[in-house]
Order: sequence, then C-alpha cells, then structure tokens
Amino acid sequence: MACPSPTQRTLSLGMTLALAAWGAACAPMLFNDGTPKADVVIESTAPAEVRKAAAEIVAYGAKTTGGDMRIRTPEESSKLESSIRLRIEAPAGGEIQHPDGYTIRSSAKEVTITGGSARGVLYGAYDFIERVLGVRWFMPAALGEDIVPQDSIPFPALNVTWNPAFRSVYGLIWAGGPGSADWELRIRAKIGPSLAFGHNWSAILAPTTANRTQYPLAFAEVDGRRGSSQQLCSEDPDVVRLSVEAARRSFSTNPAQPVFSISPNDGYGFCEDDRCRRIDTLYGVTDGSLSDRFVHYANNVITEVRKTHPGKQMGILAYVQHTAPPQKAIPLPEYATLVTHTPWEFCHVHALDDPQCPANRRFTGYLRGWSALTQHTGIYDYYGHFFMFTPWPIVRILRRDIPFLKSLGVESFTSETQQNWANQGINFYVAARLLADPTTNVDALLAEYYTRFYGAAAAPMRRYWERFETAMADSISVGDGGYAWISMFRRPLLDASAADLAEADRLARGDSREIVRQRLAFVRLGFDYTEAVV
Ligand SMILES: [Zn+2]
Ligand SMILES: [Zn+2]
Repeated sequence: MACPSPTQRTLSLGMTLALAAWGAACAPMLFNDGTPKADVVIESTAPAEVRKAAAEIVAYGAKTTGGDMRIRTPEESSKLESSIRLRIEAPAGGEIQHPDGYTIRSSAKEVTITGGSARGVLYGAYDFIERVLGVRWFMPAALGEDIVPQDSIPFPALNVTWNPAFRSVYGLIWAGGPGSADWELRIRAKIGPSLAFGHNWSAILAPTTANRTQYPLAFAEVDGRRGSSQQLCSEDPDVVRLSVEAARRSFSTNPAQPVFSISPNDGYGFCEDDRCRRIDTLYGVTDGSLSDRFVHYANNVITEVRKTHPGKQMGILAYVQHTAPPQKAIPLPEYATLVTHTPWEFCHVHALDDPQCPANRRFTGYLRGWSALTQHTGIYDYYGHFFMFTPWPIVRILRRDIPFLKSLGVESFTSETQQNWANQGINFYVAARLLADPTTNVDALLAEYYTRFYGAAAAPMRRYWERFETAMADSISVGDGGYAWISMFRRPLLDASAADLAEADRLARGDSREIVRQRLAFVRLGFDYTEAVV
C-alpha cells in the first residue's frame, strides 16, 4: 500500500514550514489532504481553559487545512491512529516550574501538552498552533492573525519545555480594545498571578469632604496648609490603621492576590508636617527623597497585616520623589516595589544598560539598589507612550532591555501600552515575544514579522519603521533624555516616510492577500494621525 505523501506546500511568501516528521516513507500525518488524522483528547471533567485549548486547536486546524478535528474523552473510542492529549500537572519541582508553564512531548502517535494549570495547557496549545500550524498573531483581531493555508501537515516531533521568564507579566493590552484579551493569551503575554499594582491611597482614604472632616490630620500638609493635597500623611495613625484594614479586606476577598498597593496617589503634594519631617531626620534624609519615610510607613502596615495574612506583600511604586532606594530604612521582606521608568525623568532613546546615558545609568542604579533590598522588585515601564500616539520607536532598546531585566533577576514586568497599534504595535509584539523568551532571536523575529505581516510590501515597510527608529536614535545628544526625541517629527522625516508608504501600497497591489492591503490601510491611519500632530 502506498503511503500518503506530505504535500508540504511552498508558500506564496517564499517560505516553507519546516516540520519534522516521524520516519520517512510512511510518515504519520496530522492532516492529510484536508482530512484530520488525529483527535484532541481531554478529560470529561476538564476545566474551561482546557476545553478552550482543545477548541482553539480544532479551530486553527480548520482555518489552516479546512479539516475539523474531533474533541473526545479518553474513554471514547476513535478510528484514528494518533491524538493530541491535553492534561494538567501542577508544578512540583519538575520541568514545569510555574502554573503558566507547559511541556509539549511527542511519541510516534501522540502529542501530549501538559500545563502547570489550565492556563498552562492553553498556553501550550497556542505554542502548538504556532509551531505546527504556522499561525501567527501579530496584533489583536482579524487584522493581526496570519494563517498559512496547507492541505497536509505531518505529525510533529516536539520536545518543548516552557516556563515564564518573569513571575508576573502585565500590561501589554493596557487599555483593552477589540480582540486584545484573546491576543494577550495567544501570545502568552499575561503571566500571573499579577504582581502589578498602581497608585492606591485614594482607595484607602478618598479625598472627600466627609473624610477630610472625619480625619482632619490624615491628609498631607503642604506649604503649611493641611489638606491642600490629595496625598495622605503616612505618619498619621489613622492612615496606617486604614491601610491595614484595606489590605486585610482585599486579601480576605481575594485570597489568591499576592500584593496589595499602599502606594501614594499620582502626582506630587507630599506631606511636609512635623511628623513626616521627623521620620526623614530619623533616617538622615536631607535631599528630599521620600523613600525612607514610605518604607517606614509600609513596615508599620506590614507588621500588622502579617499577623492575619502572613506572606502577603505591600506594594509601593518607586516613583517621582521616592524612586531612589531608601538611604537607611530597611524594608521588611513583604515589601514590594515596581521601579518606574518614566519617560519624563528617564530615557527611552537609549537602552537601560547604555553606558552613554546618564539618566538610565541613574535608573539602573535605583533598580539594582531596590533589588538588593527586596526580592519583590519589578519594573514598571512604558512600551506605549501615554500622550505621544505617534510612532514611539523603541524596538531597538526593548530588545536589549528585556534580556537585561531578566539578567538582573527582576521578579515582575509591568508596562503601560496604550493601544495605539497602528503606530506603536510593533513594540508590543516584539516585547511580548521577548518577555516570553528573552533569548528570542530578534533579527529573525523581525524578518518574519515584516515578511508575513506586510507580504509584498515587506521591504518598504521595514524601511518605514526603521526610519523612525534611526530618527529617534539620532534625535538627541547624550544626556538629553526625557522628551527631546519629539523634535524628530519634522517634515523631512515625514516626507521620506510617506514615500515608503506609497511604495508599500504600490507593491501590495501585486500581493494575492487582501489582508496585506488592509494592514497597510491601518498603518496609514497612524501615519495620517502623525502628520496631523506634526
Ligand atoms: Zn505627614
Ligand atoms: Zn539616554
């Protein structure tokens, strides 16, 4: 009997999917001429995310080959020879070290996707869909999904172990948007439980008239006026008590939550009263840094909260006047911080470890200082800009920063990424891939991105994005930092970019895929916006 030959197609993109098959002559198949040759097997009691994992494999198998795989339980018989089995195995010192981690193993007739939790199974399924079916999710929704039609797919040989590089990753879909929750899961950019947090004093004691009347000394004194700011006085006994109570309420309501934020409100206006100044003096602070007094406050809160909720963390951002590590105060082990790489005080033109950048040298000094004081040190960065919705071309720095952060051992990663996909989406895609695997070959990643996302227009679109990158790199002198880069948005740059887009449009007319033209139209929206801003 003749064996079916894998009709591994040469793609119109000029690429082939390199898939290893078992054996040579009679290679078992996953799909043969559009017909599925394997079932997806899950337990009848499988939780929702495992069911979703199975459904996604079936859905993308159908999108790719036109064939519908069947989902069955181990008890149900099958006429098919091979199967894809999904199962959960809680991390217990083995290869899977995090609930979101997974392994993918294959034998001659079975692929087994094992997750550290149901979420881990789902992430393993998405990895399988990318590797075996060749699907990519370059951005949320239909525009970002890239399918490679194939009639036949060999049964894969896989030996994959994946664990998250950071204990918590949060923020790549900061403001939500169509399809973004699906994208975040498919690209495996949400690692938890989340160690992210933000400003929170207004949730502990809102700056209402009633609260100001009931707690006259709880609000900050600024320029001799009590209550002229929405910040609190961290030395006020009511503030400490209310912080403890808020933390306890939160942990009791959400027992799985690792950290509660007792971080001051956004902005400035910190307390200048005698009680707070006494704490500054106690720790020998003379330069206006507020880190010592906030560690002192957090330690007071932790001392109480640990009596009822041992091991739970209290979070305070390292931010504005409290970014530097404390000078003498020693945080208790439950102290958590996210060191905030603000675009106004630090630099996104240079990489974090760029010796030529004084601003980032100061920042990495802070990061190292905090890391030495508490194991719960994370970074809070800005991979989307919070008011410049033009291109914010930072791929060349984040490809260096994420492996650097991993090497520093920071526990968690949080980023603001306002959802400006037309102008800043390339940051989010590259960041997601690097956060999942800091050893990712970014040159190869970008080559694939341009080729598959822009098809026939790949060359001018690479030029288009790299032109902004180069302009940003050239935009400032050493030590400028901050917002000096915005000066790059001038006529010559935009004229050259417009020429790139025009060439891309011309080439895309020859592409067989309509989606390439839709993606270019989307990028043009971002360009039109940028022109309007300039
Ligand atoms: Zn005070
Ligand atoms: Zn710099």
